[in-house]
Amino acid sequence: MDFSFTPEQQAIQNAVTQLCARFDSKYWLERDTDGAFPHAFHEAIAKSGWLGVAMPTQYGGAGLGITEAALMMQAISESGAGFSGASSVHMNIFGLNPVVVFGNEEQKQRWLPPLIRGEEKACFAVTEPNSGLNTAKLGTTARRDGDRYVLRGQKIWISTAQVASKMLILARTRSPAPDERPTAGLSLFYTDLDRRFVEVREIDKMGRKAVDSNLLFIEELPVPEQDRIGADGKGFDYILHGLNPERILIAAEAIGLGRAALKRAVAYANERVVFDRPIGQNQAIQHPLARCWMELAAAELMVFKAAALYDRGEPCGAESNAAKYLAAEACFRACETAMLTHGGMGYAKEYHIERYLREAMIPRLAPVSPQLILCFIAEKVLGLPKSY
Ligand SMILES: Cc1cc2nc3c(=O)[nH]c(=O)nc-3n(C[C@H](O)[C@H](O)[C@H](O)COP(=O)(O)OP(=O)(O)OC[C@H]3O[C@@H](n4cnc5c(N)ncnc54)[C@H](O)[C@@H]3O)c2cc1C
Repeated sequence: MDFSFTPEQQAIQNAVTQLCARFDSKYWLERDTDGAFPHAFHEAIAKSGWLGVAMPTQYGGAGLGITEAALMMQAISESGAGFSGASSVHMNIFGLNPVVVFGNEEQKQRWLPPLIRGEEKACFAVTEPNSGLNTAKLGTTARRDGDRYVLRGQKIWISTAQVASKMLILARTRSPAPDERPTAGLSLFYTDLDRRFVEVREIDKMGRKAVDSNLLFIEELPVPEQDRIGADGKGFDYILHGLNPERILIAAEAIGLGRAALKRAVAYANERVVFDRPIGQNQAIQHPLARCWMELAAAELMVFKAAALYDRGEPCGAESNAAKYLAAEACFRACETAMLTHGGMGYAKEYHIERYLREAMIPRLAPVSPQLILCFIAEKVLGLPKSY
């Protein structure tokens, strides 16, 4: 058991941290205020080759693992970019994993290089207004029409759809047979987000204003058969394959944000003098901060345990889910504690904590809720009856 990162992994952390230093807190506060997508940041990350960190080398990626991708995403978030920065590149890092694993050679050649070079942006369209976490009940349909499909339906919360030219989308091509699981019959497509057939309506939301989330109204969108990934009806299995790495990345991003909040809180606790001494000299201020450090460190161990298991090709469902849960809760507690440490100034935008606290809700809610993670652990790890 070796808990240290390799020199190569440390070099990744340092290089990403250095790159992110070009985008200071003022930049992120401005994006959070004007809501403009952080194109300059996305471009800088793409130009330095980081978008392909975990993508195969033959398509322009670096061929590294989810451990390196997690280190990179944590460093982005920890720089103060938080989820505004991390979510702007998140989909490019591992979103096309289903294409890497289940796509054919022609599709990989066509889709991966432009995404890795940052020329194309993609969004991931699964969630729907009427089915929520019950993916088996998705209502978006893909009707076969000769050598193409025609998609119809609604999606909700789809991040980056305002700036994306591509979307990875799950839609039902047929009903499940009586002996099949309810998720059978869902198919996965990677296709053009053609705005003539898809209305993209932005949701006014609590935080991460720079990275949009949207309602999609899909009306008779034609999708060529060549844009279907793998076999018809197997899309949910392909998505499942990418769920663990996605949870690991979100968890790493949450740790980064929690650390950014903690750093600011400690600095403020050392500087701010009330009753003739720094507020950080009071145990009522110190202890919650010390607890946040421990919770973040413990969650981080789970994140990198899950990443190491994934990179070795071993089962990592329990660890990935636990990492996402623990990291999101630790991140939220760190941001909340940072706010309380700052007193009134925590509520002022110029101290950045209120932005962090708003963003800290994202890893708690998405891509899966804490309740559903607890259900998963109870059932799959503890052997309790399925509750939903
Ligand atoms: C900022 C943001 C960005 C997002 N980006 C994307 C994206 O890019 N692409 C995408 O596809 N989706 C995206 N999502 C959607 C996100 O993944 C969903 O919001 C999430 O999966 C929860 O689904 P829901 O909102 O429909 O909750 P619901 O399914 O309506 O659930 C509501 C609440 O009820 C609880 N609940 C439901 N059933 C049970 C049960 N049986 N037992 C216990 N509790 C239960 C849930 O845990 C949850 O707390 C995003 C969401 C947010 C907030």
